[in-house]
Amino acid sequence: MTVILPGATIGILGGGQLGRLTGMAARSLGYDVHVLDPDPDCPAKAIASRLVTARFDNADAAADLARECDVVTLEIEQISRPALDAVAALAPLRPKADAVFTVQDRIRQRGWLDAHGVPVGPYRAVGSADECVEAVTALGASICKAPMGGYDGRGQVRVGSPDEARAAHAALGGGRVIVEQFLDLDLELSVLVARRDDAVSAVYPPAVNHHVHGVLDWSITPGQLPAQLIQHAQQIAHAIADSMGIVGLLAVELFLTKDGRLLVNELAPRPHNTYHHSERASSTSQFEQLVRAICGLPLGEVHLVTPAAIANLLGDLWVEGVPPRFADALTVPDVRLHLYGKASARPGRKMGHLSAIAASSEEALVRVLEARRLLSPS
Ligand code: ADP
Ligand code: MG
Repeated sequence: MTVILPGATIGILGGGQLGRLTGMAARSLGYDVHVLDPDPDCPAKAIASRLVTARFDNADAAADLARECDVVTLEIEQISRPALDAVAALAPLRPKADAVFTVQDRIRQRGWLDAHGVPVGPYRAVGSADECVEAVTALGASICKAPMGGYDGRGQVRVGSPDEARAAHAALGGGRVIVEQFLDLDLELSVLVARRDDAVSAVYPPAVNHHVHGVLDWSITPGQLPAQLIQHAQQIAHAIADSMGIVGLLAVELFLTKDGRLLVNELAPRPHNTYHHSERASSTSQFEQLVRAICGLPLGEVHLVTPAAIANLLGDLWVEGVPPRFADALTVPDVRLHLYGKASARPGRKMGHLSAIAASSEEALVRVLEARRLLSPS
């Protein structure tokens, strides 16, 4: 395997917060960073020595980026197949186009998981309003999800009964939709796997995650989970990364249902919001690990060096353009502020996060939530 050494140039498709933080880790290791993003003021602008401003379906622009890079990775899976292929023709694309293509469409992804014997909740892929009604009749209370483009709970409609199915299908654009049975969750967890081109891999301990309105609110590690469950979740994630031939990172979101089933919710072939605490808690952060994995460097240790928690900061905290009270939040011991450099704060938009470490993850969570509370005066 060829090792891509510091001094080389890493290309990143996507310049959001994940691209920015990956780029910072890459720079720290001595790599140069080029980025492609549609927004000329994207968060990664601050760390990119070259920013290609183009949409993610612009194959010429993707080729333009790749031509000057030694390896290309991504922080978002919504890159068109022609753009992925254009990159791969000029530089190693890690993860590979096939893996990204499989993951980027919820229906395709679910079909792959099913075909590979991965446990998932009951679902149906539908193509019409009538089929959507049938699916909800069969599954009961459900969530209808658009196959592409959804994130942070967007592109999803909850449906209580079949008579709501028609409107939900229309609200999602009326085409292909995945209907998932609404599951009664005990908790949500995620597992991150790093894997190199030669199949050497490392699996992080699970994070336990709390969502509000479909958006990650906070995440802790370690979770208070039975050893057997941890092992099972890690096994599932590792097996998926192997079968999919992931090079880079794979984040696996899982549900533990009240009746004790461990089910895969969805995949992300990139760094993940629920592993932001790896910058504090893990011997190697997810961002450094991604760089190591795509460059063929030895993978870093993934054991925890301390319990930690993160809490997301959404644009709602900026009331009428007034920024939150950052200095107040930073009075809480062992809390750090991570801002993504986004110019405009819109409700629901991820602007940054707070992280905390403590003797236990419960204590770290108390700290990070207290710090977030101090951001707002009332
Ligand atoms: P996104 O791409 O927005 O993260 P997800 O499919 O992960 O989409 O859904 C976001 C959140 O919505 C999940 O983390 C979970 O809290 C909730 N959710 C999604 N699907 C289901 C389901 N089938 N049953 C119960 N809750 C769900
Ligand atoms: Mg999700």
